[in-house]
Amino acid sequence: SRGPRRAGAAATRTAFRHRLVVVTGAGSGIGRATARAFAAHGAEVICADIDLAAAERTALEISRRGLGAHARQVDVSRAEDMERFAAAVRDEHGTPDIVVNNAGVAVAGPFLDHEVADWRRVLDVNLWGVIHGCRLFGRQMVERGEGGHIVNVASLAAFAPSRLLPAYSTSKAAVKMLSDCLRAEFAGRGIGVSVICPGFVSTPIASNAIYRETDRSLGEKALRRRGYPPERVAAHILRALHRNTAVVPVNAEGKIGYALSRISPGLLR
Ligand code: ADP
Repeated sequence: SRGPRRAGAAATRTAFRHRLVVVTGAGSGIGRATARAFAAHGAEVICADIDLAAAERTALEISRRGLGAHARQVDVSRAEDMERFAAAVRDEHGTPDIVVNNAGVAVAGPFLDHEVADWRRVLDVNLWGVIHGCRLFGRQMVERGEGGHIVNVASLAAFAPSRLLPAYSTSKAAVKMLSDCLRAEFAGRGIGVSVICPGFVSTPIASNAIYRETDRSLGEKALRRRGYPPERVAAHILRALHRNTAVVPVNAEGKIGYALSRISPGLLR
């Protein structure tokens, strides 16, 4: 049984060979893990982040292993910046096959403590960032006519109301609905739309948001113990795409959920 197993592993490692994948928020957490995972499975990855140095670190980690990665600076919340970014990707690398709209921010606190600026920032990055990504890259994919797949990273907060994350939860619920609307529109065009809803993930966004006003080191300890590692979220994204899963419910641990549309078979090697 060694032969077939080796062949199977090889097929998996090259599942995304020659595919161009854009990941936003690739400088940290889920985005970084997802960029690394796609590269490890053969894809050429554009690591985009508002923090160029962080994006460059991820791209360097990937290219040190002999895999293809490029770093780019973009603020996903700004329409003109995203237009410039999307045009540069198309002109320099081509239309991406897969786009992971992942960049996000969180503000913690009760509704009455949220300033207008807090609401604007969270909605601008988490919702508008995804809207821009879907508009610009969705249009490129439609124009190319060879299909594609968009993965939007929402959160279980989209389903579970949280007293301390009103703006964040609202933004993620909107991302979930936007993804569902888009899936229906893109269904006939060979473009899949998935929305992945991780629960409590061990990344800076969670420790900063939830423990900002309490004891940071206590928060980090709790996250290490209870949080879901970002690498596992990335593995879920790739596995779900690779298995051509249509819809997978929230898992038994209640830590992750998906609504995935069928990936076009031509995207997988
Ligand atoms: P998580 O992976 O849990 O979402 P992180 O805070 O680890 O949380 O990662 C979020 C990433 O998104 C960071 O690298 C951050 O720099 C990036 N990011 C935040 N805001 C923007 C933005 N406006 N444009 C692009 N990237 C952003």
